[in-house]
Amino acid sequence: MECLFCKIVKKETAAHIIAENEGILAILDAYPASDGHVLLITKKHFPNIAEIDEEKPRDSGNYLEYLGCYDPRSKEIKLDKDNIKKWLSQGAQPTDTVKSLFKKHL
Ligand SMILES: [Zn+2]
Repeated sequence: MECLFCKIVKKETAAHIIAENEGILAILDAYPASDGHVLLITKKHFPNIAEIDEEKPRDSGNYLEYLGCYDPRSKEIKLDKDNIKKWLSQGAQPTDTVKSLFKKHL
């Protein structure tokens, strides 16, 4: 039996999709903990997160979209303004920490 997330990936169940790539789908949560709460769903079904790690480590470089980076040694921050504006326009809501970062650097 398929889980709800597999049905969303197959577009058999409605969801507010804000981004996707070959392996991941980003949707607005139906029961958000806060405004703009985004869920990242793997397109391949995994029974739990530990099994994702075995097959594809988090540091594999396969991320949804580059938004920026921070070098703690040089304190240098690089942000991709176009990608950030796109995500914000699609409903993503940054945390207070990220909001203050955007305010300083965008
Ligand atoms: Zn599933």
